Amino acid sequence: MKFVYDFTEGNKDLKDLLGGKGANLAEMTNLGLPVPPGFTITTEACKVYLESGEEPAALRDEVSAHLVALEETMGKKLGQADDPLLVSVRSGAKFSMPGMMDTVLNIGLSDKSVQGLAKQAGDDRFAWDSYRRLIQMFGKTVLGVDGELFEEALDAAKAAKKVTVDTELEAADLKKLVTRFKKIVKTEAGRDFPQDPREQMDLAIKAVFDSWNGDRAKLYRRQERIPHDLGTAVNVCSMVFGNLGPDSGTGVAFTRDPASGHQGVYGDYLQNAQGEDVVAGIRNTVPLAELESIDKKSYDQLMQIMETLENHYKDLCDIEFTIERGQLWMLQTRVGKRTAGAAFRIATQLVDQGLIDEAEALTRVNGAQLAQLMFPRFDESAKVEQVGRGIAASPGAAVGKAVFDSYTAVKWSRSGEKVILIRRETNPDDLDGMIAAEGILTSRGGKTSHAAVVARGMGKTCVCGAEELEVDTKRRRMTVPGGHVVEEGDLISIDGSTGKVYLGEVPVVPSPVVEYFEGRMHPGADDADELVEAVHRMMAFADRKRRLRVRANADNAEDALRARRFGAQGIGLCRTEHMFLGDRRELVERLILADTEVEREESLKALLPLQKKDFVELFEAMDGLPVTIRLLDPPLHEFLPDITELSVRVALAESRQEPHENDLRLLQAVHRLHEQNPMLGLRGVRLGLVIPGLFTMQVRAIAEAAAERRGAKGDPRAEIMIPLVGTVQELEIVREEADKVIAEVQEATGTELKLAIGTMIELPRAALTAGQIAEAAEFFSFGTNDLTQTVWGFSRDDVEASFFTAYLEKGIFGVSPFETIDKDGVGSLVKLAAKAGRETRPDLKLGVCGEHGGDPESVHFFHEVGLDYVSCSPFRIPVARLEAGRAAV
Ligand code: ADP
Ligand code: MG
Ligand code: MG
Repeated sequence: MKFVYDFTEGNKDLKDLLGGKGANLAEMTNLGLPVPPGFTITTEACKVYLESGEEPAALRDEVSAHLVALEETMGKKLGQADDPLLVSVRSGAKFSMPGMMDTVLNIGLSDKSVQGLAKQAGDDRFAWDSYRRLIQMFGKTVLGVDGELFEEALDAAKAAKKVTVDTELEAADLKKLVTRFKKIVKTEAGRDFPQDPREQMDLAIKAVFDSWNGDRAKLYRRQERIPHDLGTAVNVCSMVFGNLGPDSGTGVAFTRDPASGHQGVYGDYLQNAQGEDVVAGIRNTVPLAELESIDKKSYDQLMQIMETLENHYKDLCDIEFTIERGQLWMLQTRVGKRTAGAAFRIATQLVDQGLIDEAEALTRVNGAQLAQLMFPRFDESAKVEQVGRGIAASPGAAVGKAVFDSYTAVKWSRSGEKVILIRRETNPDDLDGMIAAEGILTSRGGKTSHAAVVARGMGKTCVCGAEELEVDTKRRRMTVPGGHVVEEGDLISIDGSTGKVYLGEVPVVPSPVVEYFEGRMHPGADDADELVEAVHRMMAFADRKRRLRVRANADNAEDALRARRFGAQGIGLCRTEHMFLGDRRELVERLILADTEVEREESLKALLPLQKKDFVELFEAMDGLPVTIRLLDPPLHEFLPDITELSVRVALAESRQEPHENDLRLLQAVHRLHEQNPMLGLRGVRLGLVIPGLFTMQVRAIAEAAAERRGAKGDPRAEIMIPLVGTVQELEIVREEADKVIAEVQEATGTELKLAIGTMIELPRAALTAGQIAEAAEFFSFGTNDLTQTVWGFSRDDVEASFFTAYLEKGIFGVSPFETIDKDGVGSLVKLAAKAGRETRPDLKLGVCGEHGGDPESVHFFHEVGLDYVSCSPFRIPVARLEAGRAAV
């Protein structure tokens, strides 16, 4: 295996092996751009080192060989006393990662070679400045000396000279500073600063390897779900100098604005500076455009190179460059990070420029970004006082009164207050409070902390790990940087999309993207913003490309209409249980309590017209599109009063000797219906089979509603869905009865009704016997929520709050299987059932109606296994459309 690649040997597609920085340095080298020569040590070498604790045997020789070649190219030797070759040692993993070792510049300088450098450059000041920088960076990042100590010494030197910026220090001052820095190293690290250039280089390389397993790097990887075994590459790059006087300098640039996507000159430049000076804020940088008047030749060349890079990468690039005495050098480029909004804008701009096609544009955005753009957001023009920033754990903009415990959160929210629950970290005891709160803020924990996992599951805004906030739950207060104290009841605002925390109430504005989907903002109109235009076009690209259809989970006409505006192509799940709530509860209670056939039939008869009316409205809203109606699914006790409340009521009435016969009967029924595991109890098709007339009443309501819509010249397309079927026999019995009812309605109304009857696949047994079930089903809809519960044996309502954090932290899974479908387990049952079902019935329609229908990664999976549609909540529809388009690219 080869462990070292010259910059001329790599290319941009070798990120796994050469890291992002190394791969792109190689790419630029091969494009003929001015990159200082160098080489990259592979991630494989790092992996060997991390596994065995020793660098691979061949590495030292390979590095030597590449160093010799580099020395030949440059015409000087590393650290050569009279004319030293200097290099930088730079970390560079596949993904850029905070916590990795900082770059060490000027390696090769020593007490001897600093003189040679001075003579060669004809500049003493420059040489000593470079040397003090080396000792400072090396001391801090390789030898682990507290960086503050160097900063203090530098400040002292400036103070002694009564100057404010480092460029005003002269050679003699810097020389003294070097002596001071070396002393610091000696006392703090217990060793001398190494004078041997090769030793400097080798120590720096090893330090880069070691930094892969630093605490900060590990934490970051956990939060971002980056695998721990990738390792980092190390780049050794010959130095170029931006600190050689006013005709030198260093800068950063973007090929277009990463916030808006607009083309133009974006970046910063700093004269007579090296490396990170430009971002460290030690002196004032100038806008990149000013480089034109400082050094026109370099400026023009840079503009040319930026164009080359954009055309080559066909994307926004960010760039680091240095100018050494009027000569431009490229030190880094990569496809640049951008905001969600800019991602959409840039993708369409690149299509317009002819750089990429529609399909490629779809790969440049994703559903998570679209979802982010759909959340209401804080008004950017409002005056805000930001007091902290944590991890953006669950998006949204939430405003409320600060509360510090779950009990208060519940109490206040019951009395109509909006609250933000603030905790150091949350645990299962906080669940009620989290439900009651508008948003959750914690000062500890990352993206997999309890607060983050549970908030995402609930779709609730959450900022976690805002470490500079001191939360004191005992005294019910929080201290923010600067000392201001937020007391219980004070208003605060948190932004779950950016992680920012503000004092007071920041005004919230609706997302223009939602305004667009709602039809309240029109692309093409004068006031439509660019973002809306871009989203509109990307949605069109996706719709043209996708094979999967997208339906909505909607229970009423209002939701159905919104879903249609958002692009739904039907309803994939209409839950009928809400039609049994509210003022209809009394009828349902009577049905459950019925002692005689007659009583039961009467209550069913009373429910029938109400259900029918619901369906008529729904069919009208979704006219011409399929509407899948699920017959009653939840256990009956959910329709009865709470057991404790009822017991109290009965006891009170008893003691007051008031009549309470009905409550007593209810209480008996509640006891009778009580189940240890209602999720696995009397529900779904089982209800239909044991409560005579219940399902047939619902089927009749559907059939009559369809006939009525037909009469009104509508086009109702009802699909009747039987939940929780485990064996084909269950379905056959229900089906037979349903067919009879439908025939009766057809007869009575003289209308031919084409009602499809199908089932949910949400039990492992159903999936395993899907071939048989398809004999009696015209469609399958995978209920992936229940299927995940039953395949894993997880009760969703319990496990997310109790032990998922531990599971995520231990890496048992990277993401909750309720959020993203578990492809290996649940997913393979879906695959198997789809195949078996279609073998029995080739035209079997296949869909999915669990939460997963709106989850980007899951949508891709459902596309791959060949389902016909996904169904999700109305707000997730645009995300599902976009991802279905992306899946088809
Ligand atoms: P980071 O990943 O933090 O950007 P880099 O390796 O890019 O770290 O280096 C930090 C700074 O040092 C950057 O400004 C970079 O341009 C500069 N730098 C790195 N190598 C060299 C070099 N060989 N010559 C001059 N400047 C360099
Ligand atoms: Mg850095
Ligand atoms: Mg860099």
